[in-house]
Amino acid sequence: MSSVARKIRLLMLLRRNGVNSTDVLRAMELIPREVFVPPTFHDQAYEDTALPIGHGQTISQPMVVGLMTQALQLSDRLKVLEIGTGSGYQAAVLAKIARRVYTIERHRPLLAEAEGRFQALRLHNITARHGDGMRGWPQAAPFERILVTAGGGMDPPPDLMDQLAVGGIMVIPLGADRRSLHVVRLRKTETGVEREQLWPVRFVPLLPAVPAEPGQAVPGQGQTERGDMPPPALIPPDFSDVIHQRA
Ligand code: SAH
Repeated sequence: MSSVARKIRLLMLLRRNGVNSTDVLRAMELIPREVFVPPTFHDQAYEDTALPIGHGQTISQPMVVGLMTQALQLSDRLKVLEIGTGSGYQAAVLAKIARRVYTIERHRPLLAEAEGRFQALRLHNITARHGDGMRGWPQAAPFERILVTAGGGMDPPPDLMDQLAVGGIMVIPLGADRRSLHVVRLRKTETGVEREQLWPVRFVPLLPAVPAEPGQAVPGQGQTERGDMPPPALIPPDFSDVIHQRA
């Protein structure tokens, strides 16, 4: 089957499963997912599956990208902050719908690769940076939309909530533990926050701070940490658990 035929098959699958926003389907049709996956997985780029991108991370399952993007209720007037650039695929999809996308990644090498893809695809409305996304991007706040593509915790990081505009929407996987995450939609109002639990999902963890870089001493440990691995306690036992799949 040609890659065009595979892409059409995937878009039809998304539609059957509730991705009915024409903006979201069009954006996913326009962004070549094969550019965002390692060459060894090119033949699977239009399967509905998460794929490894290195550093223990994955590019999300297309269904999850479609549903989370749709849950954001985007328009071309809005400014979006994404936490967890990863491959850059989700940011690229957002960039086809929103006015401007800011995205933060804690793994510097992943960020560099993603930035190369944004350049190659001429996605000039994306601004990306290296850092701890849990702190948000105060200089560019407030954001009308925030999408967190890594999961964990019962509540959203407070800095992200502060940087969400009144009337804005945040979509984030939350849950007490890795096995019971749900995609949650939060709406900030004048008086508080409305919370809707959308569907169960599996996501790689949202981790605080940035990993130490090669050659950089880790305070208190007197040694260097490999800059590319999450702490061992958070590495799930099998690959099926690190993928961003609907649970
Ligand atoms: N949106 C990505 C997939 C997300 S993978 C894509 O489309 O490919 C989740 C990403 O979140 C990983 O790359 C991980 O390194 C990153 N991450 C986890 N915690 C983070 C944090 N606190 N700040 C920034 N990035 C974080």
